[in-house]
Amino acid sequence: MCVMTDCLFCRIVAGEIPATVVSDSDDVMAFRDINPKAPEHILVIPKAHFDTAAAMATVDPLLAGKVVAEAGAIAEKLGFAADGYRLMFNTGANGGQEVLHAHLHILGGRPLGPMLA
Ligand code: 5GP
Ligand code: ZN
Repeated sequence: MCVMTDCLFCRIVAGEIPATVVSDSDDVMAFRDINPKAPEHILVIPKAHFDTAAAMATVDPLLAGKVVAEAGAIAEKLGFAADGYRLMFNTGANGGQEVLHAHLHILGGRPLGPMLA
């Protein structure tokens, strides 16, 4: 497992920073966003460090699929899948990516409209 000591989400994976964990498997972890933008706001991450979703999918497409599948499983488990939800990978500065460890936002629990600002 690649752990970058200066990466916030690698430190959550390592247990050095607490998080409200929603699911945890060998290679994928999910936890609640510390500053939720919706009633349900969960981040699904690969435990291995990749800067971006595209880098993850290029190097390990199976892992990228697991991250997306886990998002769907969490929405089902927490009971908001039927009403719908949004999955979002922010990438780079213009994409609003603040944490440079690939993470999939799950946003749900309220109508989100056609697109976030
Ligand atoms: P980005 O803007 O990079 O796509 O999203 C990063 C997300 O990480 C933000 O929604 C932010 O609220 C969340 N975040 C930042 N620091 C922490 C933290 O220490 N713990 C948790 N659980 N979420 C965090
Ligand atoms: Zn990392």
